[in-house]
Amino acid sequence: METNRPDEEDFDVVIVGFGPVGATLAHLLGLHGVRTLVLERESAAYHLPRAVHFDDEVMRVFQTIGLADRIAARTRVNPGMRFLDADGRLLLDWPRPQEVGPQGWHASYRVHQPDLEAILRDGLAARDDVEVRTRCDAFAIEERGDHVHLRYEDMSRGRIHRVRARYVVGCDGARSLVRRFIETGMEDYGFHERWLVVDVLLTRPKPELGDHSIQHCNPARPATYVRGPENRRRWEITVLPDENSARIATAPEVWRLLAPWITPDEAELERAAVYTFHSLIAERWRRGRLFLAGDAAHQTPPFMGQGMCAGIRDAANLGWKLALALDGPAGESLLDSYQSERHPNVREYITTAVRLGRLINTSGTEAALRAAFRAPDGAARMESIYPPLGPGLGTGPQAGRLFGQPRLADGRRLDDVTGAGAVLVAEPALVAGLRVPATVALVTTADAPDAAGHLARFGARAVLLRPDRYILGTAETAEGLADLLAALPLSFTKLSSANLPEPEMV
Ligand SMILES: Cc1cc2nc3c(=O)[nH]c(=O)nc-3n(C[C@H](O)[C@H](O)[C@H](O)COP(=O)(O)OP(=O)(O)OC[C@H]3O[C@@H](n4cnc5c(N)ncnc54)[C@H](O)[C@@H]3O)c2cc1C
Repeated sequence: METNRPDEEDFDVVIVGFGPVGATLAHLLGLHGVRTLVLERESAAYHLPRAVHFDDEVMRVFQTIGLADRIAARTRVNPGMRFLDADGRLLLDWPRPQEVGPQGWHASYRVHQPDLEAILRDGLAARDDVEVRTRCDAFAIEERGDHVHLRYEDMSRGRIHRVRARYVVGCDGARSLVRRFIETGMEDYGFHERWLVVDVLLTRPKPELGDHSIQHCNPARPATYVRGPENRRRWEITVLPDENSARIATAPEVWRLLAPWITPDEAELERAAVYTFHSLIAERWRRGRLFLAGDAAHQTPPFMGQGMCAGIRDAANLGWKLALALDGPAGESLLDSYQSERHPNVREYITTAVRLGRLINTSGTEAALRAAFRAPDGAARMESIYPPLGPGLGTGPQAGRLFGQPRLADGRRLDDVTGAGAVLVAEPALVAGLRVPATVALVTTADAPDAAGHLARFGARAVLLRPDRYILGTAETAEGLADLLAALPLSFTKLSSANLPEPEMV
């Protein structure tokens, strides 16, 4: 057994990078009592806007970490997206539901990423098991036996520190250091384009801009308009091949490009910068005890507003698996499912974004735009944009699909009462006389009347859910359910379910 040096601190998990993905993963690990160190090179969160959209699945993750209400207070519900041709004619309307949907939240939110990150960061102060160190730049990683040794520079004091951890997760963004240590190549989905991103703050009301996102499918100069929260408005405008990135981001050029929509006496520029949007996925998301999540693992063009969302999904998938892996070899085997499950899911979002980007660039027809939203299996992404996970845990055709969030009879949402472990949602008749493991929270359709509708969507009378609320398996008979529970990975029963409701509730 290897001993650590006297100057070497010990953690269960070190997260490199304190962007939205690192912060969310830190919350999820803290929730499971995992001793976690977060290292971040910068002194403060990146202050300029990037993500302006996230979805209900992501809001459900924020609910799991106890921050959904605070975050919801800083968002706007998005009414949808419209595609216009070069003459401003409507090509396609993609309305997003205004009522709360099956996940227990609205389908699409507008947000200012720095607001979101501030809430994620502040919330970590309440998690005793998580320590955050800013101005700390990780630079060396070495896997030795059952630990990883990591060195970082504390730039405030000019000192080198050593830590060791059972696992290291690189949430360190597109230029990931951890990715280099994993030594993976990147799969390239063929989209690499320069876009000028302009954020403005309205100085007077401008209702004619509208609340919908607009894709201007103008082959001469494709552009996107996004209505942010409060007085924030965003335009993303294609940079043409012969244009100079520095020049196009100067104020006179920016106002010239914005002239069809807004003038300097109506708004002030918050920033203008040229980004090159890529479509890349790492070939390896794991090597031994090193993992990648978020932009470190994948990058997408912004047309679906899914870059950060995909990273939050990574965190939701990996967090509980790491917590179980720390408990022993039974949990360790779950870790192999991280990439196999997440890669096809994120690939679906990225390839859809690439198809959309190409159509916006070439002035798509309505039919072509509709086709862009279709998955290879023919399912319409416009109605339901939740691709399943790839092969991994669970059994049966519904394994790896995201289950909805029923409400209990008293109005509370499922996840608020079932804790952080596995959940069984079932018709009462199926569980009568059944021995359900104590750590699996049981909710019947008698406790949560609308659970029947959620079950019906999957053609099931019972579903067994993972901690991230994806389906492990479904059953239609009591025998089938008994088999499903018997096949539950042993390690699952070790997850804490601190918030388990009173027995009479479930
Ligand atoms: C213009 C634009 C619009 C976007 N719109 C959307 C949208 O609407 N919806 C959406 O979901 N996504 C959107 N995105 C994508 C989203 O912003 C990113 O996917 C998200 O910020 C990635 O989060 P992350 O935590 O993985 O990485 P980052 O936010 O990049 O954080 C990585 C962190 O790691 C730190 N770090 C790096 N290396 C080290 C090291 N060696 N040691 C210590 N720290 C290190 C960095 O300082 C940084 O703070 C958009 C992006 C852009 C640019």
